[in-house]
Amino acid sequence: MTRKEFVKMCALLGIAVPFPSMISSCKGDENPGGNFTGKVLIIGAGPAGMTAGYLLAQRGIDFEILEANSTHGGRIRTNTTFTDFPIPLGAEWLHVERGIFSEIVNDESIDIDITTTPYDLTNDIAIDSASGTQISFEVAGFTIDQKFVGSSWLDFFNTYVFPSIESRIRYNIQITDIDYSGDQIMVNSSGNQSYTADRVIIAVPLKILQNDVITFTPALSSTKQQAINNAHVWSGFKAFFEFSSQFYPTIVGYDIQPEPSGQKMFYDAAYGQDTTQHILGLFSTGVPAETYISITNDNEFRDYVLAELDDLFDNQATPNYLRHIRQNWNAEPYARAAYLSAYEDFNLVNALGKSINNKVYFAGDSYTTGEDWSSVHAAARSAIRAVSELVE
Ligand SMILES: Cc1cc2nc3c(=O)[nH]c(=O)nc-3n(C[C@H](O)[C@H](O)[C@H](O)COP(=O)(O)OP(=O)(O)OC[C@H]3O[C@@H](n4cnc5c(N)ncnc54)[C@H](O)[C@@H]3O)c2cc1C
Repeated sequence: MTRKEFVKMCALLGIAVPFPSMISSCKGDENPGGNFTGKVLIIGAGPAGMTAGYLLAQRGIDFEILEANSTHGGRIRTNTTFTDFPIPLGAEWLHVERGIFSEIVNDESIDIDITTTPYDLTNDIAIDSASGTQISFEVAGFTIDQKFVGSSWLDFFNTYVFPSIESRIRYNIQITDIDYSGDQIMVNSSGNQSYTADRVIIAVPLKILQNDVITFTPALSSTKQQAINNAHVWSGFKAFFEFSSQFYPTIVGYDIQPEPSGQKMFYDAAYGQDTTQHILGLFSTGVPAETYISITNDNEFRDYVLAELDDLFDNQATPNYLRHIRQNWNAEPYARAAYLSAYEDFNLVNALGKSINNKVYFAGDSYTTGEDWSSVHAAARSAIRAVSELVE
């Protein structure tokens, strides 16, 4: 069973994707740091790296986060200038219950003040792009998903996680070598900075490992290396178009065939926001994303999308067009793709998530136990698991 089938089955049965929190609240723990007292290096300050650092801070464990980019967040980056609400250039929806916020914060005394809205599955309209007919939100791929209102995944992390790890993040440090052959782990950057630690948590996107940006000494086991090499990581592209009126429904779904080749939809990106702007989002991964990425000229890209929309909506797109922005995740040097295919095999993902010799741990949306992957919540939960294993 793939993640896609598993998640669909859970939705049909009306249950949440199971993944119990594996880390107990620190409150009242006699020994919150567990048996571990050394130093931890975390590579990457996306949702996984930030969650790992936050949990280590809660437990009083010494750590540093080494981030290649000049800012934190990874694939939850937002644009705050295009509209009067944050536009998520990567992760946009909350795909699980809101309880995930408290699960990450891991402190019952903190109230989470982040507004999200589900879709109105009865009155909102999703259509199929091929027939133009209405489809259910389940067929469109949306069941329990919620939109952030006036905020984003990045805002959640900035408010509840970032303040306690901010002073531990070193920016513009791209890690290229990890030597875990000795007692102390040696980590080197492209700028020849060296760091040592007792444990390392690798929280970089899978494509970074597939592209051999980081060299391991000793080499990774053949099982791990094969899992990395064989994993199908989708390309990723999003765009946002502002129009002078809303001529489109909530979702326009595309039935991509064969299914494992990718995903595509247009959607009302201003859904639930306190705004008068009409913003249509284009979301695409895999082969559909590559089609858009191949159109490098911005005017050609605009005309291509407007032609698609004019076709779907009776020539209403071009006369209503105001402006657009686009985000190509393949061109981001520290992401290089969108995420692991939703159709990947459980066992392969499980191999990706396994730690090495109680020294090198993996946290991120691709390094899970195999129950779930490719989302912010899966990245955070994998960090919860990695920290839990590390402090044992
Ligand atoms: C187009 C798109 C749409 C998405 N939509 C959703 C959605 O709606 N909902 C959802 O839950 N998820 C969504 N996701 C997935 C979500 O963004 C990821 O699952 C999540 O960001 C993964 O977090 P992470 O910490 O594992 O990796 P990342 O967010 O990629 O963070 C990794 C960090 O590692 C850093 N790094 C990379 N290489 C190095 C190096 N060599 N040395 C040091 N640092 C390095 C990067 O700069 C980055 O900061 C989407 C992603 C994309 C691309």
